[in-house]
Amino acid sequence: MRAFVITAPQQSTVIDIPDVHPNPGDVLVEVERVGICGTDVEFFNGEMAYLHSGNAHYPIRIGHEWTGRVIEVGDQSDSHWLGKRVTGDTMLGCRKCARCIGGYQYLCEDRFEIGIRNDYAGALAEQLIVPTLALHEIPNSLDETIGAMVEPGGNSLRAFMATQVTPSERLLILGPGTIGLLCAQFAMAQGVEVHLAGRQGRSLEFAKNFGVASVSTSDHIPDTNFHGVIDATFDEAMPAKALDLVEPGRRVVYIGISHKPSLIDTRELVLRDITAVGILSASPGLAQTIEIFSQGSVDPRPLVADVVGLSEAGKVLSGWRPDGAGAGPKIHIDPRK
Ligand SMILES: [Zn+2]
Ligand SMILES: [Zn+2]
Repeated sequence: MRAFVITAPQQSTVIDIPDVHPNPGDVLVEVERVGICGTDVEFFNGEMAYLHSGNAHYPIRIGHEWTGRVIEVGDQSDSHWLGKRVTGDTMLGCRKCARCIGGYQYLCEDRFEIGIRNDYAGALAEQLIVPTLALHEIPNSLDETIGAMVEPGGNSLRAFMATQVTPSERLLILGPGTIGLLCAQFAMAQGVEVHLAGRQGRSLEFAKNFGVASVSTSDHIPDTNFHGVIDATFDEAMPAKALDLVEPGRRVVYIGISHKPSLIDTRELVLRDITAVGILSASPGLAQTIEIFSQGSVDPRPLVADVVGLSEAGKVLSGWRPDGAGAGPKIHIDPRK
């Protein structure tokens, strides 16, 4: 089968590798769609923190936002999965340690992350091995585009829910990328008044047609009180700014990661009774994201600008956008192409 690998910073290739077959407890998925995100770009650029901590190495097969159909099971007792469209939890804990047993497998010290951590091969290939315990079924009413948006959706849903804003309250989202826009969609579906801010550029322009109450650059955010703020940027100045902008007693949610340390003054937290929350993983939000997408109250498809083949993944990672691509921030790969 064909697989996409990053071999060194800025270097990638599509190679032929031997077919794989699932062991008991695993399934083999024919991959139908994979999203490319900021983490993947960091792997391509050599900036990803795990490359420096020893939790990831070149060559690496990336891809953690995916959907596909189960075509082979490792154990006959899992044959009910055959033919089902699925996605999977990226985070694969050891399932033995206290954290895993306590329900925090996505924070297990020894975890694998599909396409990210400890050399677990990712979804940018024609086929992918996934443990059955990580699988989530995607109903047939949802297409591949939506299926591959479940992972970023899970992260965004968790970030939105962590703000604890209620209908008709005001939420400020910093960062008009995929995560910020998905947060906005989940919030608007709940009747929250959403304000988006970010750097001037294509994504901010795209956000203007998104039905939010305001879109502004980060220096011209409306002068009002926000009942919650989400930082979904890569900008090291934004975490402190988020803290400045939130109402006393409320919550700031951090889901973006900057390359440089992003400092906040904890006296602000204390003196204004603010709660700061970090969100690492989609894991506890995946099932509910699939449910919300199935109900149709949130449709992530406008965020996907285009779908290209496996051999174009390297160009996408270096910032290329196909001619005629839509205005959304996300590019999808179909490994069958
Ligand atoms: Zn991602
Ligand atoms: Zn564990």
